[in-house]
Amino acid sequence: MSFEAPGTRDDWHALAHSLVPESRAFIDDAFVDADSGDTFESRNPATGELLAQVASCDEPDAERAVAAARHAFAGGAWSRLAPGKRKKTLLRLAELMEAHKHELALLDTLDMGKPITSSLGDMAGAIGCIRYQAECIDKLYGEVAPTGEDSLALVLREPIGVVAAIVPWNFPLMMTAWKIAPALAAGNSVILKPSEKSPLSALRLAQLAKEAGLPKGVFQVLPGFGHTVGKALALSMQVDCLAFTGSTAVGKQLMQYAGQSNLKRVYLECGGKSPNLVFADCKDLDQVASHAAAAIFHNQGEVCIAGSRLLVENSIRDDFVERVLKAAEIMQPGDPLDPASFMGAIVDEAQHRRILDYIRQGVEEGARLRSGGQAIDGPGLFIPPTVFDGVTPQMTIGREEIFGPVLAVFGFDSEDEAIAMANDTPYGLAAGLWSQDIDRIMRVTRRLQSGQVFVNNWAGGDQTMPFGGVKQSGNGRDKSHHSLEEYSELKSVWMALAP
Ligand code: NAD
Repeated sequence: MSFEAPGTRDDWHALAHSLVPESRAFIDDAFVDADSGDTFESRNPATGELLAQVASCDEPDAERAVAAARHAFAGGAWSRLAPGKRKKTLLRLAELMEAHKHELALLDTLDMGKPITSSLGDMAGAIGCIRYQAECIDKLYGEVAPTGEDSLALVLREPIGVVAAIVPWNFPLMMTAWKIAPALAAGNSVILKPSEKSPLSALRLAQLAKEAGLPKGVFQVLPGFGHTVGKALALSMQVDCLAFTGSTAVGKQLMQYAGQSNLKRVYLECGGKSPNLVFADCKDLDQVASHAAAAIFHNQGEVCIAGSRLLVENSIRDDFVERVLKAAEIMQPGDPLDPASFMGAIVDEAQHRRILDYIRQGVEEGARLRSGGQAIDGPGLFIPPTVFDGVTPQMTIGREEIFGPVLAVFGFDSEDEAIAMANDTPYGLAAGLWSQDIDRIMRVTRRLQSGQVFVNNWAGGDQTMPFGGVKQSGNGRDKSHHSLEEYSELKSVWMALAP
């Protein structure tokens, strides 16, 4: 690389022009076309430019990859390797990712439109996750159960077998790392299916994994669609675990596929409609407003934990909404390759249309549009920060996950009302609350139905914290040693001892 991050807009454009992305599948240690020879287009949503024709895998490719993964698992070159040695290989992979982080970040930005600074942040998260899980694996002990002297009882941890990781497009490489790092660290063979909307960084990762020395068949990447190769993996009798991040609707389908096939484990990280509660006792309302705006407009609102429902105590609501509007003014979308852009492009035309449909519905159902609301003229797919006030829990934009830069503001008069409104959703991924009153903070935190609660911040956390949801936001946990435990089986061994 010829520049230091964050680089200039021109640096990034120059690097983009020199990139030739890998577009073939990675199966059994080789880059190959799909068995059918079919491909699909990967386009840059900020310009419409064609980036690559990517191998479109389907059932025969899934079967080949699963057979290679099983063979690798049975062979033991990874699954039975000493944890300390697995750790070394994964740390080497992290080093290689670090050395190529500009290129990896650029692939995500070109593929799905997020700002380059955001992609660089994702790289730090992805690399940090690989390092953390690699470091964990030789520190996680089994157990000796308490027994009498006539026996010795051991609880051993063993890898599960073949894990299929199916991931979304909004944080392509980071979501990938959250799945593959603990699954590989635990000794499993992993087949990754990236989203059809953002496959390129995963294929570059496969090149780096090969260079790092992951044995043949231990890590494979199958680009393609959900209803073809994704479904084939989910229905496979030879896949032992599905690690999924994506929509709740697809999560439900995966549980059915598991039931129709081999009862494979299914870990789900799904959608959200996260409430962000602002109480009137906050000290610095400008700062809170700025965080509340970033909570929804970061990554164009294409974030599972987006703070898409802003619940504000009525006594400060009008004033607070003005401050949010002011903060949102400087969060306009721009060229994703410009490090100064806060927002980038919407991932594709379907998502762009879907967001605009929700905005139209918001207006029709009587919410007050306070900013944005119109697509920005092309060629790229851009939508400005959009704020609706006077939203009620009955309105579609107040209930459904939009996955775009659309904020719904509600008012409340009491703590009980705020909690009831916050929990009135099928989702339970994240919630935020802003207050200076520690008693209130603890009362409200305990009653919020949510996998994570952010107090006087939004989206705080690091590798040490489990990440996941309750209710229809999912049943798994990414990050921390808890995710590592998910990718292993417990084996109970009872040994009878002679007196
Ligand atoms: P999606 O559910 O449409 O797709 C996710 C993945 O599943 C993709 O790789 C897709 O190809 C695959 N898929 C689709 N249908 C399938 C099928 N029938 N069988 C097997 N695989 C199938 O979601 P998306 O649009 O890629 O991502 C947006 C969603 O992801 C949002 O709902 C968002 O909230 C959620 N998300 C959740 C988290 C979390 O940690 N909870 C993180 C990021 C995104």
